Amino acid sequence: MKERIDGILSKLGLEEKAALCSGRDMWTTKEFEALGIPSVMMTDGPHGLRKQRTDSDHLGLFESVPATCFPSGAGLASSWDTALIRKVGEALGKEARAEQIALLLGPAVNIKRSPLCGRNFEYFSEDPLLSSDMAKAYIDGVQSQGVGTSIKHFAANNQEKRRVSLDTIVDERSLREIYLASFESAIKDGKPWSVMSAYNKINGSYCSDNSYLLNDILRDEWGFEGFVVSDWGAEDNRIQGIKAGMDLEMPGNGGMNDAKIVEAVKKGLLDEKALDRVVRRLIEFALKAQEVQNGASVRYDTKEHDKLARSVAAECMVLLKNDDAVLPIAKECVVALVGELAEKPRFQGGGSSHINPTYLHNVREEMSLLGTVSYAQGYELESDEENETLVREALDLAKRSEVVVVCAGLPDRYESEGYDRKHISIPANQVKLIETIAAYHSNVVVVLSNGSVVDMPWIDSVAAVLEGYLGGQAGAGAVADLLYGNANPSAKLAETFPHKLEDTPAYLFSSEGNSVRYNEGIFVGYRYYDTKQLEPLFPFGHGLSYTSFEYSNIRVGKEKISDRDSVEVRVTVKNTGSRAGKEIVQLYVRDVVSTVNRPEKELKGFAKLSLAPGEASDVVFTLDKRAFAYYNQELGDWHVESGDFAILVGPSSKITPLRANVHVQSTVTLKVRYTLNSPISDVMQHPVAAKELAPAVENMMAMFSSTNLFAADAAQEMGESLTLKMLMIFGGITPGDVENLLAAMNA
Ligand code: BGC
Repeated sequence: MKERIDGILSKLGLEEKAALCSGRDMWTTKEFEALGIPSVMMTDGPHGLRKQRTDSDHLGLFESVPATCFPSGAGLASSWDTALIRKVGEALGKEARAEQIALLLGPAVNIKRSPLCGRNFEYFSEDPLLSSDMAKAYIDGVQSQGVGTSIKHFAANNQEKRRVSLDTIVDERSLREIYLASFESAIKDGKPWSVMSAYNKINGSYCSDNSYLLNDILRDEWGFEGFVVSDWGAEDNRIQGIKAGMDLEMPGNGGMNDAKIVEAVKKGLLDEKALDRVVRRLIEFALKAQEVQNGASVRYDTKEHDKLARSVAAECMVLLKNDDAVLPIAKECVVALVGELAEKPRFQGGGSSHINPTYLHNVREEMSLLGTVSYAQGYELESDEENETLVREALDLAKRSEVVVVCAGLPDRYESEGYDRKHISIPANQVKLIETIAAYHSNVVVVLSNGSVVDMPWIDSVAAVLEGYLGGQAGAGAVADLLYGNANPSAKLAETFPHKLEDTPAYLFSSEGNSVRYNEGIFVGYRYYDTKQLEPLFPFGHGLSYTSFEYSNIRVGKEKISDRDSVEVRVTVKNTGSRAGKEIVQLYVRDVVSTVNRPEKELKGFAKLSLAPGEASDVVFTLDKRAFAYYNQELGDWHVESGDFAILVGPSSKITPLRANVHVQSTVTLKVRYTLNSPISDVMQHPVAAKELAPAVENMMAMFSSTNLFAADAAQEMGESLTLKMLMIFGGITPGDVENLLAAMNA
């Protein structure tokens, strides 16, 4: 490949090189037929193919070719099932091949910092490990079919409001531990063909022009070898973009920026070598894509993919509550199905991921195939106003039924790419309907269709809640399967559901004008709720099943390791109920004592197990340095502080019945520079100071204690927080001694 690329590059003139750096139109790159460089077509992504006419929009306003619509990212991640996501990826890859598409614009892996982000439906999680593992599986699946992926939006694109002008101000540690971590292993291990640079700035520099982000971190540190494509229209300063390694500007710019590139090279403002690096990557992409575009046409069975979408959706819907086992519903039970969403499904989100589905099913039809169901509309989906007649009809029907299933959720207008939500409530007319029916009926089951968390002021009055997310074209069949027990719920929340918006970690730190400060730092999602001991409505990792599981027998391979070792953790999980079911086993790590602020616990492993009734199985987790480390800004690296770490395993972030201990010894000594203003407590950590200064410190402590003004431990603490400089005053050591000491300590 290298020789071929070199050969083509050597034949390209400056103008041609510059022209390669931007698209031809909305969806394709430019062709250089004589040189063997084909035009390549790319499409959105992520949870279905959106192949449009080349002259059409990118916001999903116009119809695209029919394709299977799978559940969106929020649902997919709730499956916590990497094998399943890989299967979805394979299906997407096949559909892309059938349409001769070489690059799918996905997965979308930005962290759910705030529930208000209009695009949370497309994103996986508030947790970087879960998100990154889902992304890796997706990339593996799509790319196994020879089709490329473009992981997006790199990076820290966590809100839609002003996304194109927004400056995300975030400290390095939070960036690394939360926002970049969601991309990191997906890129390192998944090796996507491409990374899409986000619209926003990070700390003052647009992501598409950000050399630190694209050259230093993405390429030099993470070893990414593919190409970077700008989000559509995200490029700001094309010359800086080339220097930063932003390869392909999309969509086409009518040649405007190409001319600027040529001029910059001619004027010596841009090194042609930097341009060549970009061009090489784009030639490589075109040649790889050529194989797909010229490849044998692949056919897929739309019915089979629709079936797959249904079984996938059943793995993505979370049973949040199920009092008195109201679910599953017996086949012969008389059911009232209420709510217009039962007839008009909300199955996908708005914006660039909008798909034209091959089929579309609804809950009314699907439930009627499995049981005795009567329907009442209950509310008008297109309005927030209560319709009293519809409520009355629904209530009458409910009174004649044994179980009432209310389909509720967010209408399209409530959440979409391009803008953020203002609140997290479902429409008032739906709330009213639920409350009215629940006041009369004790068997109310709410089925939600929404892309992101909603509050549930009515939660105590209903018996069950099934969070359906945006379930894709076949989501309705999955709802019916789960409600009637043809499938056993096995999904768990990939995000925390708060009681109210005001409880959420970013609530006080929303954007002001064109900037947003991530002042909550690393305390995102459950990291915040757990550390604050704030009870959420439903915690991260929560989800019920129709069977039950028992956790036992935690074993760690070694009780003491160094930060260069890894350690195995084993637990046993048993299905103690009478149905087959799947359990998502979660492993969290807590740093027991730390000198830096760390969350109460962090997810460091998970596995989804399928168990027959009575069956038990062992799960093995392997934890390495990263499972214990935090990002140390001074070191510019991940660092483990020597000490004890608690390993917590259980069915959710809230419930971790198994606990073991591992002691990790660091092999890295943090370099500290001591000065006259270093606190005594720090200074005394150094062996030279510990020896030399012991008498002076003792003198000083004795002086404090002798005043009888302070208790001994208070005197100790007070003394230790004084500085070396003050030891000269209170401890009686000379400036010369201190100078020699500092020289020895800093040597
Ligand atoms: C979105 C991207 C999408 C692109 C092309 C942008 O507005 O942010 O996710 O891939 O459009 O449709």
